[in-house]
Amino acid sequence: MTSVLPTGTDDAATGGSDASDGKRVLLAAPRGYCAGVDRAVVTVEKALDLYGPPVYVRKQIVHNKHVVTTLEKRGAIFVDETEQVPEGATVIFSAHGVAPVVHDEAKALSLKTIDATCPLVTKVHREARRFAGDDFDILLIGHDGHEEVIGTAGEAPENIVLVESPDHVDTIEVRDPDRVVWLSQTTLSVDETMETVRRLRERFPKLQDPPSDDICYATQNRQLAVKQMAPDTDLMIVVGSRNSSNSVRLVEVALEHGARDGHLVDYADEIDESWLDGVTTVGVTSGASVPEVLVRDVLDFLAQRGYTDVASVTAAEESLLFALPTELRRDLKARGSDDSGQVRHDAGSLH
Ligand code: SF4
Repeated sequence: MTSVLPTGTDDAATGGSDASDGKRVLLAAPRGYCAGVDRAVVTVEKALDLYGPPVYVRKQIVHNKHVVTTLEKRGAIFVDETEQVPEGATVIFSAHGVAPVVHDEAKALSLKTIDATCPLVTKVHREARRFAGDDFDILLIGHDGHEEVIGTAGEAPENIVLVESPDHVDTIEVRDPDRVVWLSQTTLSVDETMETVRRLRERFPKLQDPPSDDICYATQNRQLAVKQMAPDTDLMIVVGSRNSSNSVRLVEVALEHGARDGHLVDYADEIDESWLDGVTTVGVTSGASVPEVLVRDVLDFLAQRGYTDVASVTAAEESLLFALPTELRRDLKARGSDDSGQVRHDAGSLH
């Protein structure tokens, strides 16, 4: 463990401590919102304030049920395809990114677009374009059908070969084994991805690496905290939605690194009381798209069942912030907003 810091009552909001029966909670840090999710959610909130509802959002802005439901109540309309947006309306592209063809579709419908693609996903898009321009085959490690993979693959459809797992490596085909590079989805398991790369390099010794890590800092840090907690944990509760890749990975990482049991829940009321049978130490964390209020609800649920002793396990400090999308900043400025353009982590009702 990098550090285990007992939290004060302010931090954990669980009231007094009664550890006489040994029940305790290990609370991961960092957890919850990453800079890309924060920026995407604030983008929708500010767009609703600025333009008034409805504001259309293509796909879920981030993969979290609570976030989507809350924004829907404020007037966001989530659609699956660009063609569902009325001509001339405003549409926001989600944090997972879109293929160039989606920009073309929006243009054809005269839509006003705000691109909330996480800058770290945009970086992978740039890498895909660059290596395709150099006529490499790009071995994209990721999950078939995930929105981010669809967006990245759309940058260079002729050059992308999807690699879904270490075992998949044996069956993929490339045009020239001497001109191959690997890229990845940003939210994968670090360990499994490294195993896939190892197998790829066995088959293609001249395999090139990406210029920098594609698995983002937030995914890596959340997995690191879980790895540190897992050996001491009887039960790991990960707050997150089933379609959230990084949240699902956290449960897998916990189980691989020694947690005796692990579950993904959207809300505290999904915790099955039987999971707590014989459990002394509960680990709690949340995916990168999860508002902290949902973690607080889980801590309250556990406190009511005697788990009042809460200690933070801190694997890394995070301070990254992203500026809001250019289009939105321009309109905010035109309306005289004094917004600095940088996302604030305490902003908005979902934080
Ligand atoms: S998980 Fe990583 S890539 Fe995805 S939005 Fe957050 S910072 Fe960006």
